[in-house]
Amino acid sequence: PYGLATIPKAPADFLMGLKKDFLADESTQKVALVVGAYRDDKGRPWRVPAVMEAEKRYFEDSSYFKHEYSPILGISEFTHAASQVLLGKDSPALAEGRVCSVQTLSGTGALHIGALLLTRFLPSPTPWAFVPAPTWHLHRQCFEHVGLTVKDYPYYDGVTKSLTFSAMESALRSAPPGSVVLLQVCAHNPTGLDLDEEQWRLIVSLVQEQRLFPFLDCAYQGFASGSLTKDNLAIRLFIEAGVEMVIAQSFSKTMGLYGQRVGCFHYVAAAHSDAPGVVERVASQLAILIRSEMSAAPSYGPRVASIVLNDSELYAEWERNLVTMSSRITEMRWKLRQELEKLETPGTWKHLTDQIGMFGFTGLTPAQCQRMKSKHHIHLPSSGRMSISDLNTANVARVAMSIDEVVR
Ligand code: PMP
Repeated sequence: PYGLATIPKAPADFLMGLKKDFLADESTQKVALVVGAYRDDKGRPWRVPAVMEAEKRYFEDSSYFKHEYSPILGISEFTHAASQVLLGKDSPALAEGRVCSVQTLSGTGALHIGALLLTRFLPSPTPWAFVPAPTWHLHRQCFEHVGLTVKDYPYYDGVTKSLTFSAMESALRSAPPGSVVLLQVCAHNPTGLDLDEEQWRLIVSLVQEQRLFPFLDCAYQGFASGSLTKDNLAIRLFIEAGVEMVIAQSFSKTMGLYGQRVGCFHYVAAAHSDAPGVVERVASQLAILIRSEMSAAPSYGPRVASIVLNDSELYAEWERNLVTMSSRITEMRWKLRQELEKLETPGTWKHLTDQIGMFGFTGLTPAQCQRMKSKHHIHLPSSGRMSISDLNTANVARVAMSIDEVVR
């Protein structure tokens, strides 16, 4: 054979397959509860007001330079402000110069660059990477793509619809030292269940005792509780303990800049590190990886985000916008639960309001999800994960009635 003649066909991304089914559905009543992108109560994408104002200012600025290439590690006003949001302005890690922050193709790009850095430079043999079961499907895909061997750790019990914290703890306790452990900072995708402070403290100690390497994924800061500070609790606890770690940060949901690919990858050196110059050495290797992949990151989205992050009025407006988004999602969780309870739908529905963030893990079985689609034209993945922000005043009752019908 010559060339790519024998290339095998890869399976379609499962969310993209769902999107196709939705487009092919001819019902005027159809509802998609699939993609993690915020919608307002009219079912429309919401342009975050602070970001709209920043865009206006961006276009008013007639600088000749704004379409020039960004530096390899990114636009420093953006990456620095992004690190302050993520870690807290007064973070000791920032004050002590223990952080290196680089621009990436949003959160996914940060997961990729991070995984690549770790496979290249963690001591060989390349360690295992542990991810929660279940987790966002791209965690496994991004990690395996660069050659990491991925293992699950227990996270969620489908029967009790709650966290399996003790099983998570014991699985991580038996992970080989040096293993990478992926932890979602808040608004866990897909379960909507996060650790509480005490549980995070236990995980931080365990990571230190077992000498695991934490890879934190922060895609929903401010989007879960409405507070940037509440939502980065896990990060602050790791910093407080002085642990070496890496963090992927996304502004897709929090600023509504999905397609502009706005995000960063951060390396945080251990406090009292016995590796002088490690931050500069990490940065120098990241420069090679980034240069080889994309030469330089996008500039429009990060410049707009940077205007928001570096202006106190716009920043305060953005914080209010985060409250608007997270509150509407919470309201829809309650509305769906109330509708189901009103219908006396079999089962309990409290879990819908115990969960937080973009997704509801409904507990519907694959067969029930299939029937939601075929009989009711309501599309959601077979895992039963529902994008809550696709619910609105006009469709929530119908979604509840459909759930009621499929579970009876
Ligand atoms: N991590 C998690 C857990 C996510 O849910 C997402 C978005 N679905 C991301 C990272 C990254 O998304 P993006 O690449 O759009 O920033």
